[in-house]
Amino acid sequence: MLLPQSIPCDLLSHPLLDQKQVDLQVLRLDQVHPEVSGNKFYKLQYNLQQALSQNHHQVLTFGGAYSNHIYATAAAAKEVGLASIGIIRGELLDAENPTLAFARTAGMNLLGISREHFREKTQAEFLENLRKQFGDFYLIPEGGTNALAIQGTREILTANHSSFSHILTPIGTGGTFAGIAASLLPHQHLLGISALKGEGIREEMTDLLNTSSIQSNGSLEILTQYHQGGYAKWTTELIDFIHWFWDAFGIPLDPIYTGKMAFACWDLLQKNYFPPGSCILLIHTGGLQGNRGFTQRTGIALPSL
Ligand SMILES: *Cc1c(COP(=O)(O)O)cnc(C)c1O
Repeated sequence: MLLPQSIPCDLLSHPLLDQKQVDLQVLRLDQVHPEVSGNKFYKLQYNLQQALSQNHHQVLTFGGAYSNHIYATAAAAKEVGLASIGIIRGELLDAENPTLAFARTAGMNLLGISREHFREKTQAEFLENLRKQFGDFYLIPEGGTNALAIQGTREILTANHSSFSHILTPIGTGGTFAGIAASLLPHQHLLGISALKGEGIREEMTDLLNTSSIQSNGSLEILTQYHQGGYAKWTTELIDFIHWFWDAFGIPLDPIYTGKMAFACWDLLQKNYFPPGSCILLIHTGGLQGNRGFTQRTGIALPSL
């Protein structure tokens, strides 16, 4: 898996940006790879290298039925010549689900398990049983966040991005937030927009930064008011915003992560959060494969390229 030479950064143009005297750009990680999209490319890269160098022939991971992580792992494992196993939350694997259909086509061996059972996924005995069933494997945690994932997400920001004053990223498990925090310059402020309901994410991020020995050179802030009801929950305001953003800028967003981040950015902009002269970078973390499944579930159309 190779990153493209340069990753597009789209400069947005809108009267509100002129009025507030800020510059807003979107780093299109959704375009790093046709199938291993967004932050998942960075999170998987060193894990797959490690699996290969340890002579594993297969990887195993966990995820929900519409998971971007499952989709990306299936494609990435195939590309580097590893077999893959996906343990899916929920016993019944819907044949119409486009994420799972793709994973299956990429050769992923899928096993649906009950929600109760899924919660035991980090327990030694549970993993031992999976090893009995499938043979030895390289384990990638749900959501893909571990030390090697963060080594990867440290590479999202490059020397090309040193002039930005504000960087926004969505937060799920926080592996992306942590990697960006680690590579921040002293004048940069990182805003993590939580896709989950609740304040628990703050302590989780503090713990993750501590266990990863990350002390950011920049400043960090986590916003928890943009979850729109909780993880994978949405409001019509959010869906309308995603359509508006597509019409205004031609950039597709997803309702789980990037839509909430861009919504937060626009709200903060209107509330004069960003001082005049700010240079804002939105990290488009991908996730667009999930839009198909969202439409299948809800009947609500979403933009896609
Ligand atoms: C997985 C994912 C995230 C969350 O990344 P974390 O590193 O788990 O915080 C954000 N955006 C998209 C599109 C994702 O697929």
